[in-house]
Amino acid sequence: PSDGMSVLLVDMRQAVGNGLTIRPIRTMLNHASTELFFDDLRVPVESLIGEEGQGFRYILDGMNAERILIAAECIGDAKFFIDRASAYAREREVFGRPIGQNQGVQFPIARAHVQTSAADLMVRHAADLFDDGQPCGTEANMAKMLASEASWFAADTCLQVHGGFGFAEEYDIERKFRETRLYQVAPISTNLILSHVGNHVLGLPKSF
Ligand SMILES: Cc1cc2nc3c(=O)[nH]c(=O)nc-3n(C[C@H](O)[C@H](O)[C@H](O)COP(=O)(O)OP(=O)(O)OC[C@H]3O[C@@H](n4cnc5c(N)ncnc54)[C@H](O)[C@@H]3O)c2cc1C
Repeated sequence: PSDGMSVLLVDMRQAVGNGLTIRPIRTMLNHASTELFFDDLRVPVESLIGEEGQGFRYILDGMNAERILIAAECIGDAKFFIDRASAYAREREVFGRPIGQNQGVQFPIARAHVQTSAADLMVRHAADLFDDGQPCGTEANMAKMLASEASWFAADTCLQVHGGFGFAEEYDIERKFRETRLYQVAPISTNLILSHVGNHVLGLPKSF
């Protein structure tokens, strides 16, 4: 199913206005994204990358690296949220004691740390396989799913710990909260990771 597609390198300076249209999409986060429209774009044959018909394999190879990279970014996000939540929970006093002394506040932060530490191990495992030049598609997918879920749980916890100030721009929590939600959708959605594991690891029938 991966044969038949080819990869071509396009010089965008020449292509824009000659078959390629780029239209920026305004998004809810600080991350540029664009729509590309190809309309009879002509590309010289010497722009072919690798072998004709094998392009999808090259793309998939690059996607593993991207998934591991994004997973590592999610671990960083999660650590940011956990640090901020812990600091605020130590400092903020309500009814004469720090809010972090209440287990209802403390436990979600501790849980976020546990989940992040576990996801971090999977990210490092996937990165080790990639560095060794071994197949790592499944591990890259699993790392990305675990890390994006850990960062989202940490984000949600951090926002809650900050109470109303979680929504105040000056704390940076609301901005990063929005940004970290992206990684359950892009560069691959959680559903498609589960589908990969179901089909390729567990041998279950494909739904599409
Ligand atoms: C800020 C931003 C930056 C981006 N940057 C890039 C980039 O640089 N390069 C790039 O190539 N792409 C980029 N993307 C696109 C991104 O990779 C896609 O949005 C993402 O892969 C999801 O694909 P989709 O939007 O087509 O969703 P769809 O495929 O339309 O899916 C919509 C929803 O339905 C679910 N779904 C779809 N099919 C199934 C199924 N068979 N079973 C179960 N659930 C299913 C999905 O999980 C998802 O939740 C970017 C997106 C954003 C928001």
